[in-house]
Amino acid sequence: MNFSPPKGTDDIFPPASRAWRRALMIWESLAERYGYDLVIGPVFESTEIFARGVGESTEVVQKQMYTFEDKGGRSLTLRPEGTASVVRAYLGSGVQGEVKLAYSGPMFRYERPQAGRRRQFYQTGVEYLATAAPDADAEVIEIGYRFLEEVGFDEVEVALNSIGDGECRPAYLAVLRAYLNDKRGTLCDDSVRTLETNPLRVLDCKVCAPHLTDAPNAVDFLCDACRLHFDAVQVRLGNTGIPFRLEPRLVRGLDYYTRTAFEYIATGFDAAQNAVGGGGRYDGLAETLGGSAVPGVGLAMGIDRILLAAGEDGSDIVPLDLFVVVASPERRETAARFVSDLRRAGVRVDMAPQQRSVKSQFRAADRRKAAGVAIIGDEWDQGRVIVRNLATSTQTEISVEEAAEWAKSNR
Ligand SMILES: [Zn+2]
Ligand SMILES: [Zn+2]
Repeated sequence: MNFSPPKGTDDIFPPASRAWRRALMIWESLAERYGYDLVIGPVFESTEIFARGVGESTEVVQKQMYTFEDKGGRSLTLRPEGTASVVRAYLGSGVQGEVKLAYSGPMFRYERPQAGRRRQFYQTGVEYLATAAPDADAEVIEIGYRFLEEVGFDEVEVALNSIGDGECRPAYLAVLRAYLNDKRGTLCDDSVRTLETNPLRVLDCKVCAPHLTDAPNAVDFLCDACRLHFDAVQVRLGNTGIPFRLEPRLVRGLDYYTRTAFEYIATGFDAAQNAVGGGGRYDGLAETLGGSAVPGVGLAMGIDRILLAAGEDGSDIVPLDLFVVVASPERRETAARFVSDLRRAGVRVDMAPQQRSVKSQFRAADRRKAAGVAIIGDEWDQGRVIVRNLATSTQTEISVEEAAEWAKSNR
């Protein structure tokens, strides 16, 4: 038996999982503060959702999906991203009007595994649905930035672009196609294939991009409405102190984006892994899925890559407030009830799972980085307990009722 996880997947095990837990707690707190309700959807969807939503011509749909037939003969796909599912859920819910939704969970793409690019990866995201207002774009961009800030990144920059809409993009794509046709000889096979169906994807191709530095940019073709929208997003970002730079080559790999596209770049990290999240506006996605017109904007943050770039080994164990040392076996039931009461009172507390020597219990307290120890001995019969602050080695006797406060005061 081989105990490794499947190729391209990871066991997020302690100590690394501690940084994950912390990051996800920060995320939940942020989503709540910005007013994003939680949405929990299936991990697989009807294949059609991604084929139509993400786009037939995208690399994700053509090469990277985990598609399978279930026992009922349905074609299902493990979700390669979150947005199409959330929009499908919104359309199915019958909810009308603006909704702010947050999600998190594993996504799946069959890719050549490397650091920061895994076959099962974890994303947190938000979707601000049923509004076309630029305020929504700016708010979504801000959330991701604050998330990275709170996780501990010192230098993050938002790369920002507008790729236009149904009004102005066709003219741009025509010019881009003509340009790419001229450059045909320098393009890779993949790019030649997608040149007609999805010329934007060619700009995204790592092989071809270096030969296409003089390609036309979408921002130069924006219609008045798109230009106004893009300007308003930038004003709001400036006003809320979110550092951004315009990146005319940022097109993102998925078909559904319109207008705003953005990525978070953790400056000072390896270029292959420094894009730690991103998103954009997708005003046509709901209609592509066969629903009514529901504009929206969203982001997805890659937790794997964020923690990789942050260099968090997560080795810091969350310290206990208190470790309860049991002096003799007949005190164990008392100690267990004491621990249970303290936990309900909000204290991080533990005890050994079976009776050991007092010395061994103190060693366990050290290992768990406990701030203090409470010793359950004969004093208990008078309602008292001996407590020791392990940092200062000061020992006192307090009443059992005071124990919770004493433990918390050592934090
Ligand atoms: Zn290419
Ligand atoms: Zn436009």
